[in-house]
Amino acid sequence: MPVWVLFFILLSTTFVDIDIKNSKVGNRFYFRPIQWMTKHRGFLHSVGAGVLFSLIVASFNLWAGFGIFVGYTSHLFLDCLTKAGVSLFWPLKWKIKGFIKSGGIIEEIIFVLFLLYSFFIIGKVILGYLF
Ligand SMILES: [Zn+2]
Repeated sequence: MPVWVLFFILLSTTFVDIDIKNSKVGNRFYFRPIQWMTKHRGFLHSVGAGVLFSLIVASFNLWAGFGIFVGYTSHLFLDCLTKAGVSLFWPLKWKIKGFIKSGGIIEEIIFVLFLLYSFFIIGKVILGYLF
């Protein structure tokens, strides 16, 4: 896997939350029309949207599409662990829900663990290219 695919993975993990006005990426004014058309954890938080965006990007570059798919689905998977849950198969209303409270201490601990693991993986990939 080329190293630059990590950029697309990271991009798509944050992109999913453009459907919420007070998220770090969704607070940009140019995402307002998307927020008016969709509700939070609606279409953009579905497997269908992930596959659609991945295929669109993959039509330009296969590795970039793969990166979008990995990042998008990992975001959906982690949102499924929260109490609010996600309608993965939107427009079906059936939600997959977990036990983690968004913004709670368990979410913070998981975030730090994934962050450390991400640094480990990125470091391993970079060192693999250097040596
Ligand atoms: Zn989300």
